[in-house]
Amino acid sequence: MPAGGWAGDRPVVRLKLTVRGAVQGVGFRPFIFRLAAELGLAGWVNNSSAGVFIEAEGPRASLEDFLVRLEAEKPPRSFIQSLEAAWLDAAGLPPFAILPSTTGGRKTALIMPDLATCPDCLCELLDPANRRHLYPFTNCTHCGPRFSIIESLPYDRANTTMSQFTMCPQCRAEYDDPRDRRFHAQPNACPACGPHLELWNPAGEGLFANHQALLAAAQAVRRGRIVAVKGVGGFHLLADARNEAAVQRLRARKQREEKPLALMFPSLAAVQSVCELSPLEARLLGSPAGPLVLLRRLRPAGISVPAFPIAGGVAPGNPNLGVLLPSNPLHHLLLAALQFPVVATSGNLSDEPICIDEHEARERLGGIADLFLVHDRPIVRHADDSIVRVMLGREMMLRRARGYAPLPITLNPQLWPPPAGPVLAVGAHLKNTIALAVGGEVFLSQHIGDLDTGPARRAFHRVVADFERLFEAPPATVAMDLHPDYLSTKFAGEMKGVRLTGVQHHVAHVLSCMAENEVGPPALGVAWDGTGLGLDGTIWGGEFFAVADNSCERVAHLRPFRLPGGDQAVREPRRAALGLLYEMLGDAAFTRTDLPAVAAFSQTELAVLHTMLKKNLNAPLTSSAGRLFDAVASLTGQRQKMSFEGQAAMELEFALAEVTTDEDYPLPLSAGRAPLMLDWAPAIEALLADLRAGVPAGRISAKFHNALAGAVVRVARHFRLHRVVLSGGCFQNRYLTERAVAGLRAAQFQPYWPQRVPANDGGIALGQIVGALRDPALSQLQPT
Ligand SMILES: [Zn+2]
Ligand SMILES: [Zn+2]
Ligand SMILES: [Zn+2]
Repeated sequence: MPAGGWAGDRPVVRLKLTVRGAVQGVGFRPFIFRLAAELGLAGWVNNSSAGVFIEAEGPRASLEDFLVRLEAEKPPRSFIQSLEAAWLDAAGLPPFAILPSTTGGRKTALIMPDLATCPDCLCELLDPANRRHLYPFTNCTHCGPRFSIIESLPYDRANTTMSQFTMCPQCRAEYDDPRDRRFHAQPNACPACGPHLELWNPAGEGLFANHQALLAAAQAVRRGRIVAVKGVGGFHLLADARNEAAVQRLRARKQREEKPLALMFPSLAAVQSVCELSPLEARLLGSPAGPLVLLRRLRPAGISVPAFPIAGGVAPGNPNLGVLLPSNPLHHLLLAALQFPVVATSGNLSDEPICIDEHEARERLGGIADLFLVHDRPIVRHADDSIVRVMLGREMMLRRARGYAPLPITLNPQLWPPPAGPVLAVGAHLKNTIALAVGGEVFLSQHIGDLDTGPARRAFHRVVADFERLFEAPPATVAMDLHPDYLSTKFAGEMKGVRLTGVQHHVAHVLSCMAENEVGPPALGVAWDGTGLGLDGTIWGGEFFAVADNSCERVAHLRPFRLPGGDQAVREPRRAALGLLYEMLGDAAFTRTDLPAVAAFSQTELAVLHTMLKKNLNAPLTSSAGRLFDAVASLTGQRQKMSFEGQAAMELEFALAEVTTDEDYPLPLSAGRAPLMLDWAPAIEALLADLRAGVPAGRISAKFHNALAGAVVRVARHFRLHRVVLSGGCFQNRYLTERAVAGLRAAQFQPYWPQRVPANDGGIALGQIVGALRDPALSQLQPT
């Protein structure tokens, strides 16, 4: 157990905060000291060129209080641009103190993410007497574009895309006045001298300019049209979220059949009329990062008068909605004009990176948007909306991009000594991101996407080159996945003069979660996801590792089964189900046409699949938990084919929403030597019996989830590793994660799960960096 783990009978935890913004020289540290003392917290605060760092230790409720009051009661002249919080184990910190400032630091510390409009700028925007009234490019030193406009360092106007706009005398005076809110605000602008709006038709002909363009765009949305809007990190496609026909048109044109669409609401009050909203969720929505937050819809009984009837096509069959608030002046003005929620989805074709240039947008979005609301401030690099959900009382990042990228994760030097030279990690294939480690800081790229399309590959190349240049860190070492067909792996293999390190996919998942939670070995790593190449050449995805100082041993896994059709099985849960049944029943599986999974195939298809499985043709073995979820979704008749990744597992989770039960299915752990095996066959037999008995799908789903969560606890008990690290896309499933965490805690284990870095493959790059640092050959090098 960590030192100082209890205060009386209350468990003690540690909250680590990095606060960036106008927080230096404004009485911020004394304020933090007083607040911490008042709440009886231990810990410290200090300044560095990268921001204010705080570690506070105490009972959880006091720390939550500290977090909320820090923002609500901060000194009047301070302004928080970015606040990243990580919940860590208690470390037995001494009474709270202000530590001396640390000097030095790299100039890269100055690369901030794009920041949501601050309250002062919003007031000016809506004030008819202000010279920036209705001006959609209003910003100040507290807010506005950063990462998306920086061409090179240092961060001066000449090195941004604002260099082409010459400040008028009034803007210049603000910029030069140390007492002004716009002192050295690099993107400073006004209607007289800054960027301006235009509304284009698909041929690129200007229809309206300035505020007329905005009003005409709003009018078009109101009339059911689809408008592409150039924002801060790229284009969004907007449509009236109440208009089913508009939503369906957008889906058809964007080739996005069922995947939920994001919504932008005019206000927090409007959000509350449609969704449940906790204080932490409200805080995230209104934060300077301005992410998309996954919220639960109000149950029908909870809505007295539906203020905004959301079209059914926005998120069919989904109890959650992805919700954004306006985070730049243009979005504020549009939503103020509309006063109702709009669909605000990335300006791209399915799975391609978001468009950033109006000419490129006309080409790529020409068939989707009826109109283009554009401006003449160039975007240097794309940044999609970040996606966050609140789970177990804290944030969980699902996609890290605008508002967060390229902020670093700082490695704990006691656990992972800084590398001698820069290390680049090229990530996985789906949900790709890259990472660049310079010293002990790991700079995480914005979400790039699935590397299947030409635009995605070009974006990947651009981001790698961009990071090396921006951080002046040509890599000495490059870490990559072991899968030879991943575009990222091939790219790394072609790099000249670098040292290559392959890091197994699921090991990377575990190390990523350990790094951000500052957990060192020994630990039990649980990596459950859809697909990743294993060391034995099969597809892994239901893995347990004993992580020690110099090793990472696969100690247990789910029982493997074959996936007829390989990649095609990833999109068709019925194939996973058939593979599972074949593993259990052999040829008899093909006679089980009483099961929805088998009945979903024609006799001809079944014959082909039978041959595949029997002769082992294109039917790879997998121990993937994600595929097991798919198979169960198919067996219970929930879904046979998917239109987006993770759909079947998501629906299986939704099915249990109203069910409360502790019952589960038997999922025994084999005895003998590692790796041990969790055998799902008894669980599936019991599940089939439930199906025959007419047990509802929701109850079956709950029992299946309970069995998996229970299995995690059983494996932890077997190997007796106190720290248990949960990672991989499956742990985005709220029910599974909450249940596993509760079970582990009840059995006296210490569970960890992802916070600031995605559990899915968007977090792989950070784990690859740590994997490279753990490489024994590397550790012989002298740290800088
Ligand atoms: Zn501002
Ligand atoms: Zn001006
Ligand atoms: Zn993965």
